[in-house]
Amino acid sequence: MTATIIDGNAVAAKVQDQIAAGVEKMKAEHGIVPGLATVLVGEDPASAQYVRMKQRRCAKVGIQSFGHVLPADATQEEVEKLVADLNANPEVHGILVQLPLPGHLDEERVLNLISLNKDVDGFHPVNIGRLAMKGREPTFVPCTPYGAMVLLEEAGAEFSGAEAVVLGRSNIVGLPAAMLLIHRNATVTVCHSRTKDLPAVCRRADILIAAVGRAEMVKADWVKPGAYVIDVGSNQVADPGSEKGYKWVGDVDFDEVKEVAGAITPSPGGVGPMTITMLLKNTLRGAELALAEKA
Ligand code: NDP
Repeated sequence: MTATIIDGNAVAAKVQDQIAAGVEKMKAEHGIVPGLATVLVGEDPASAQYVRMKQRRCAKVGIQSFGHVLPADATQEEVEKLVADLNANPEVHGILVQLPLPGHLDEERVLNLISLNKDVDGFHPVNIGRLAMKGREPTFVPCTPYGAMVLLEEAGAEFSGAEAVVLGRSNIVGLPAAMLLIHRNATVTVCHSRTKDLPAVCRRADILIAAVGRAEMVKADWVKPGAYVIDVGSNQVADPGSEKGYKWVGDVDFDEVKEVAGAITPSPGGVGPMTITMLLKNTLRGAELALAEKA
């Protein structure tokens, strides 16, 4: 059996077209241009590159972006003042504080300050709390697990009653992915570094989401035949034969697992393009919330 390959770039392009149409409609009907503010503290090259990429994607769908860069030694007060100003700015519908923040800053205090209606990363403790509660809906869902769920939907996965296994329990991926699956009535097992006999646990899964940060850890004999496999992992490994000397691989051994799974995302080209797409979608939603508040 060879799995259906879930093409994250194609799904992302489709969702981005829908977002661009929504942005256009908001401009035409209400004169509102959705706006995303990014806050980068320090000059970490990888973080700066992520921020630039987010700004470029905003421009592609017609969302304005406001880039704010603070020096690496910015004080807690300076960061908090910037977030407070962005909360009060009516042109800003989403605030993204690029994590991690430098060690001297209290990340949780900063995230707590972001207005709930502008929390497009979905990391505000109230949004995460609502996600964890039965019968409650968060205002925003964290982008990476949100993107993973959209890919599963596009691939035709049935959630209700399915056995789902999430590998990883981080606040940004594993835990919210598990909570989203519970909301969709899957029976969910969350694995982590202390889980015993991972292959046996994973083999139970009709839906397997891997978010561990371990290159090609999930092997073919960890996967139930026909399962939906979503590979969130993005790991740089040595590739002496290539020009750069490295390549990117996921947490799933794609070549092996695609022979067993029913559907699988590649990495790169799966969840990655969806993460940024869901950020754009959340920003449009932020603008819709602002509009509803005005009415
Ligand atoms: P974290 O390091 O925060 O979390 C990793 C999780 O995996 C932890 O819960 C950890 O367990 C668990 N884990 C680590 N090693 C093992 C192991 N050997 N066996 C079982 N469990 C293990 O990572 P993130 O959640 O931030 O990211 C996970 C992966 O997803 C990374 O490759 C990252 O690059 C990628 N990523 C991709 C994104 C995208 O847009 N495509 C966005 C975000 C992340 P414990 O809790 O016990 O320590």
